[in-house]
Amino acid sequence: MQLNLRVDCGIILWHMEKFMRMALQEAQKARDIGEVPVGAIVVKDGVVVGHGYNKTETLKDPTAHAEMEAIRMASATLGGWRLIGCDLYVTCEPCSMCAGAIVWSRINNLYIGTMDPKAGACGSVFNIVQEEKLNHNVNIEYGILQEECSQILKDFFKNLRRTKEQKLEDTQNWRESVRF
Ligand SMILES: [Zn+2]
Repeated sequence: MQLNLRVDCGIILWHMEKFMRMALQEAQKARDIGEVPVGAIVVKDGVVVGHGYNKTETLKDPTAHAEMEAIRMASATLGGWRLIGCDLYVTCEPCSMCAGAIVWSRINNLYIGTMDPKAGACGSVFNIVQEEKLNHNVNIEYGILQEECSQILKDFFKNLRRTKEQKLEDTQNWRESVRF
């Protein structure tokens, strides 16, 4: 009995990691176009019905977060806004806007890669998806491929700081050169 339980847990973990890896691939697409690397996918009955990555800068749209893109696509795929029986995998904890959309779309299970202590609304700053006053609550599993989901963000911001420092250095060099 215990052995079966362990095997079942192993299969569930394998599934969770498999889908989170797909969300990570979405995050890489965001990184490749200079966007904050966050990716999301929506799964129903083991099939991906929606996927998306952060495109806020590209589309000049503050609502173009990975989760919103994935939810929009899943709604279009399934032909309705109620995503009952769907799971959402996202590499970084959803913000308050996305958490609201997750509740409204009736997502069942939410799988999070890494937490966002500054703006996360699924356990960090708020926990909107498990707010008892709302008419729908979402199950959450934290820390799926946590290290990889966190590292892609760390690398992105490290490169961003380096580019900014380089630009500042170039400007200072230019000022020095025109002074003499
Ligand atoms: Zn968001």
